[in-house]
Amino acid sequence: MTMTVQSEDDIDILSILQARREFRPKRGLEFYASEMAFCHRKIALSILYPRETTLTARMALGVMMHEMLEAILDEIYPIDTYYIETEVSLSAEYGKATVLGRIDGIALCDHDQAIIIEVKSTGRREHGLREWYWPQIVTYYWLVQKTTPWRVKEIHILHLLQRSLALRRYRVSIPSEDDVQRVLRKIDTIVEAIEKNSVHELPGPQYDWECEKCEWREECQNLTK
Ligand code: SF4
Repeated sequence: MTMTVQSEDDIDILSILQARREFRPKRGLEFYASEMAFCHRKIALSILYPRETTLTARMALGVMMHEMLEAILDEIYPIDTYYIETEVSLSAEYGKATVLGRIDGIALCDHDQAIIIEVKSTGRREHGLREWYWPQIVTYYWLVQKTTPWRVKEIHILHLLQRSLALRRYRVSIPSEDDVQRVLRKIDTIVEAIEKNSVHELPGPQYDWECEKCEWREECQNLTK
C-alpha cells in the first residue's frame, strides 16, 4: 500500500489569524493595556506613526494558544459557579487619552464579583511570572473598576508553557492605588511629551531586548538626529 500525494497547497495561517484579530493602527491618543509596560518613547511613537501590527510566527503561536485556552475556560471555571465572558473589550476616557483593553476572560460570581483572567503563554522551559505583565494587569483592573458594575475580587494569570502544555494558575494581588497612579502618570507624561514635541526626552526602555524587537526603532533613531 502506498500513499500518493495528489495535490499540496500552503495555507496562510498568519493571514487568517491577522484577519480574525484587530491589529488596526491607532487613532489619536490611544493607549492599550497590553503596551503599558513598553518604553515611554515606543508608546508615543506608536501614536505619532500609527501602523497595523503584523503578526510574526511567534505571535501567531501565542494567539492560537490563547484561543485554545479561552475555549476551555468554562471547564477551568465551572459554569455552576461562574459565568464566563471571554475577550472582554473595555475602553475609558482618561483626560485627552483613550485607554483600551481586551481582557482574555472574566469569571463572574455572586452577582457582581469578578475574577480577571489573563492568559500568558511562553516558549521558555520554566514557569515564573514576569514583572513585565504587571502594568497590563493594573490597567485591566482600572478599566473594570471604572467602566463596569463589577467589583474585582481576584486576578488570575493562567500561565501556559508552550513546550509541554503545562498550565499553572497564579492568583496575584489586587493592584494598589499607587500602582494605578503609576500607570496613569505614564499616560500623562506621554501625552504631555507629544503635545510639547519632546518625545525624544521620554525615558527609554527598562530592558535591553526591547529596542531589538521595537517596530519604531527607525523613527526612534531619527528623533535624536
Ligand atoms: S527603539 Fe528602544 S528606545 Fe526607541 S522606542 Fe523602541 S524600545 Fe524605545
